[in-house]
Amino acid sequence: MCRLRVLVDLPRHSRLDAVLDYLAPEPWPAGTLVRVPLGKREVCGIVWGMAETPDPAEADGEAPVLRSVVQVLTDLPPFTHGWLRLVAFAASYYQRSPGEVALSALPPDLRDLDAVQLARRLKRLDKALATAAKVANAAAQAGTPERPALSPEQQQVLDVLADGPPQPSLLFGATGSGKTEVYLREAERVLAAGRQALVLVPEINLTPQLEARFAERFPARCIVSLHSGLTPAQRLQHWLSAHLGRADLVLGTRMAVFASLPRLGLIVVDEEHDPSYKQQEGARYSARDLAVWRGRHEQVPVLLGSATPSLESWYNAGPAEAGGGRYRRLVMPSRIGGGALPAVRVVDLARIAAQFGKQALRAHPLAPPLLDALRERLDRGEQSLVLLNRRGYAPVLHCTNCGWKSACPHCSAWRVFHKLDRTLRCHHCGITERVPRACPDCGDPDIQPMGRGTERLEEQLADLLPGARVGRIDADSTRAKGSLAEQLASVHAGEVDVLVGTQMVAKGHDFRRMTLVAAVQADAALFSSDFRAPERLFSLLMQAGGRAGRDAALAGRSEVWIQTWHPEHALYAALRRHDYEAFAASQLAERESAGMPPFSFQALLRADARTPEAALAFLDAAALQAQALPGAQEVLIYPPVPAPIHRIADVERAQMLVEASGRVTLHRLLAQWLPALQGLSSEPATRVLRWALDVDPISI
Ligand code: ADP
Ligand code: ZN
Ligand code: ZN
Repeated sequence: MCRLRVLVDLPRHSRLDAVLDYLAPEPWPAGTLVRVPLGKREVCGIVWGMAETPDPAEADGEAPVLRSVVQVLTDLPPFTHGWLRLVAFAASYYQRSPGEVALSALPPDLRDLDAVQLARRLKRLDKALATAAKVANAAAQAGTPERPALSPEQQQVLDVLADGPPQPSLLFGATGSGKTEVYLREAERVLAAGRQALVLVPEINLTPQLEARFAERFPARCIVSLHSGLTPAQRLQHWLSAHLGRADLVLGTRMAVFASLPRLGLIVVDEEHDPSYKQQEGARYSARDLAVWRGRHEQVPVLLGSATPSLESWYNAGPAEAGGGRYRRLVMPSRIGGGALPAVRVVDLARIAAQFGKQALRAHPLAPPLLDALRERLDRGEQSLVLLNRRGYAPVLHCTNCGWKSACPHCSAWRVFHKLDRTLRCHHCGITERVPRACPDCGDPDIQPMGRGTERLEEQLADLLPGARVGRIDADSTRAKGSLAEQLASVHAGEVDVLVGTQMVAKGHDFRRMTLVAAVQADAALFSSDFRAPERLFSLLMQAGGRAGRDAALAGRSEVWIQTWHPEHALYAALRRHDYEAFAASQLAERESAGMPPFSFQALLRADARTPEAALAFLDAAALQAQALPGAQEVLIYPPVPAPIHRIADVERAQMLVEASGRVTLHRLLAQWLPALQGLSSEPATRVLRWALDVDPISI
């Protein structure tokens, strides 16, 4: 008998190290999938290693106290050391248990399989792959797909990438500069060398489009996707193809960073700045940062691409003297085909108000010059995109008589008026009710929408532009499965003249005939309490601008319009010049003088409780604990505060920021603090509903 250390998915609060010892008749290598008893259940586990000390009970010749492994899934090759190390790192860095990280990275269906069921699935997979191989062979016979001649900038970038040891690189390329072609060529290189490539995208919506481009380029290759939009059976099949080394290319969202890839040769992170790469629950990992770590440790190149890199990545790719030097910086400033970037027009709302009266602005969402620009597009048969990051008809209803407003009874937020189904909906807790006929407080029937959401904007634009086909794409319009693809297709087919949308349409999509993008209400981000808000706004507007004029023939008359009360703001000035570098430099200077990331490292402790007092009491006690830890004087512990939306679904939320100038300093403290926090949360005086530590939080 030997003792195996096995990872199981234990809730973090029960024991930080979810590694349990089990007996097995023979040793199995680390990474082997097993089934083990846990309490009254039988669960999936992963062999982590052999226990060093023999079982004391056994040494005494008594019956072993340990339970035995039930089954070893020998049909599946063990996880590689690289994968196991990734899990170990992610767990320690994000302060979770390795069992939780490892098991939650597996497809749910895999966790439920026993050996017999697994064998059946593998047989089915073999059949599917054989069929796919036949199709691929036929495609390969039909001839090799055409590749465009590389632009000089693409060639230069690829030359640099081919040269020297694998290393993370930041590909800073304008929208339309042909970054995808660079990914394709890099993938081609590693595939030819018999390796696998992993390509990450920020959103599920972007996978079909990218998958199509890769499939077109590599018709003979096995390409699979990994994201939460798959059925459990699909997800298992795709995952198995990757794990068995049968898939050559894996495309996926952040979860795919944990894909098991025995022949990994390249990781691409497209739109690396996108906040969606940060997981916002459970193990709150950054898929981008883990990709960089994984690449380093498996010695494969990592390519981070963006037209507006995150300031962290930009800093890391900066000169070593200034604290950077971690990534190679590769630059592609020009658009393919030589098309110019769209001209940026900033509409000064104060001037418009002086000219046409404030009343006009309230009634019309668009300033007259912008409306004229839209009409011009209509006359020429071109498309426009009007961005508004607020879905619904109006963010709040109010009573003109007594001032009642449509507050959510369960959240510190307004319920949004949705006119299409005449509901009031809270976007935080989801509560949905019919719109009242009269004011619930005073009975006055005159209740009015305040402000504007996408539904209302769509309605107003249809009024202002008679004959125009106005469409809308947001989370509401695309709720049904497949409807986003359908709506995008109708935009591509030219069935929409003016598209109203939230930021979900600003990313990645390639609208050929779009020559105008307008942001009608962008200012809020300039004065947000979140220090990352300007970075996000800049990136969103650059990305959105990237939708315009992708057809070189139309690029010359493509425009981005921004309505603002602050036309002189430095952010808009940089945007007008398409000057990401200047914007990044000024933001980094601000961050440096304020000691904010990337010049410091942060963790956010969040607590949820029934009352604000309880949440804050937990955090106060946690702060006292932290202050007593060795090394605490090197760490700044901010006072606990209510979260920006302090109540959601009747739960009060509070948070506390912890900051240090060095990553190591911060992590040394966190590692000691966590066990103490676990004790704290089980004491009656400081008990809370939930608490969580968010390492490198991206919104605070
Ligand atoms: P990015 O991802 O940088 O915004 P894309 O990769 O989408 O840019 O490229 C923009 C367009 O240019 C795409 O239609 C692409 O097919 C085309 N393209 C890219 N590289 C070349 C090339 N070397 N020659 C011709 N067309 C290219
Ligand atoms: Zn009223
Ligand atoms: Zn609510």
